[in-house]
Amino acid sequence: MTTLCPETTQFLSAQPLKMFIGGRWTDSLSGAAFETRDPGTGSVIARVSAGDAADVERAIQAAGEAFRKSGWATLPANDRGVILHRLADLIDKHQKIIVEIESLDEGKPRAQAAGFDVPHAAKTFRYYADLAMHTRRREPIAVSGFEARTVLVPYGVCGFIFPWNFPFLLVGWGIAPALAAGNTVVIKPAEDTPLSTLYFAKLAEEAGVPAGVINVVTGLGETAGAALARHPGLKHMSFTGSPEVGRQIGEACGRNLVPAKLELGGKGAAVVFEDVEVDKVAEALVGAVTLNAGQVCCTATRWLVQKKICNQFVQKAVAAFSGMRIGYGASPETQIGPVVSQKQRARVLGYLDKGVKEGAKLLLEGGTAVVQGHEAGYYVKPALLTGGPGNVCAREEIFGPVAYLMTFDEEQEAIDLVNGSAYGLANSVWSSDLDRANRVAEQLTAGNSWINAHNLFAHGIPYGGCNLSGCGGGVLGVDTFWDYLRAQSIARPLV
Ligand code: NAD
Repeated sequence: MTTLCPETTQFLSAQPLKMFIGGRWTDSLSGAAFETRDPGTGSVIARVSAGDAADVERAIQAAGEAFRKSGWATLPANDRGVILHRLADLIDKHQKIIVEIESLDEGKPRAQAAGFDVPHAAKTFRYYADLAMHTRRREPIAVSGFEARTVLVPYGVCGFIFPWNFPFLLVGWGIAPALAAGNTVVIKPAEDTPLSTLYFAKLAEEAGVPAGVINVVTGLGETAGAALARHPGLKHMSFTGSPEVGRQIGEACGRNLVPAKLELGGKGAAVVFEDVEVDKVAEALVGAVTLNAGQVCCTATRWLVQKKICNQFVQKAVAAFSGMRIGYGASPETQIGPVVSQKQRARVLGYLDKGVKEGAKLLLEGGTAVVQGHEAGYYVKPALLTGGPGNVCAREEIFGPVAYLMTFDEEQEAIDLVNGSAYGLANSVWSSDLDRANRVAEQLTAGNSWINAHNLFAHGIPYGGCNLSGCGGGVLGVDTFWDYLRAQSIARPLV
């Protein structure tokens, strides 16, 4: 049994956990609930209210009313900023509790949640609150015969559907720009990991965010999620998740002519040239593909290594993989936690089987891992495969600690291999020749190209995808803020 602080235990003790709609904590209208499990032990953590279309309806109504009447949309940006800063401060203050909840619900090592997910979410609220204060929403337009200007106004009710891999972080990345711009939001967290979003709503309430500005409807994708995406009361939609569901969201929003931002999956590549420090790069890529047990949309899953250094690289990578400690998220020594669910583990192991059947060779076997004391948890050993670019493991998103190695001789060959993917989220180039690294980085088809690093996230650097990885501008950039404002022109003829 893991140790939790009294506040976390108390938060989890109210069962089923209620949704947050219109400033009130409420059960689903149907009274239904679902279970969320600890992936590290397989046991049930909590029962959570299972919202459906009727609850989504309530949440959209509450968010619409808050947009029209709470004053949030018309507050000066600096006054909204005060509240968002207060929210960020509360996230920092309650970091320990959020980290415990996140690690328990998703399986990630606490150190990762404490080192990145939670503080980065807090910073995102500060970043967009400050940005909103320093931007102009009115621009004069110089057109002969008119006095004219554009004003930028918030859309209204914005819907957000999130996946399970970074539940708390993605709430921050998603809703902070929308709120800073003056919109109100309805959030549908993933059914595997709803807990930290509910705790977040508690902090928003404490920070003084007016009732109805932030609403959380917990529930399943095909019920609550689908009802949110197709609701005509939405003015803007943001979805983070798989391309399969992303398509459905895009279609539903298209029918209502609601703009949709889609942040989808990836099959990131790392191109490693022969002039690198092989040990360091091998270690960095092992770190990247095992981060969050490999459940990271943009991580380096395809390793393209120049032939001359391939043997040395594989040796170092296998040694680095073998030294990683697989364990329960709450154990301080854990480097790789469990994957999120039994289903996810079966998916990862299934890909290894399929890849081998299609001719890939296992350089490191992978498979189920058993963690002493947590035998029923969903643990997976890291795996390294090699083979041709047509193999299923080279093409499809596995979402586990699995890397696929290919070799190349010439620069162009590496670029073609990277760009052969249907995805387009993030890739990296590793070389001590920065001219070459920059040249190659610009030729990779994706939303993000990183140089001598992988998985880089900084406020101000836009992060998004193209092709199967999504559309709509991404997150974290200055432009993300503008994505939540629509332009309106105002004109008067000068007669
Ligand atoms: P998923 O698409 O299965 O689910 C995502 C969310 O959509 C969940 O909240 C789910 O309940 C909901 N959903 C499911 N079916 C729905 C439907 N019919 N209508 C409306 N909502 C529905 O994805 P997942 O398995 O939770 O997450 C993994 C995927 O997310 C991977 O593909 C990963 O790459 C991607 N991802 C992308 C980013 C990014 O920034 N690009 C970030 C994190 C994860």
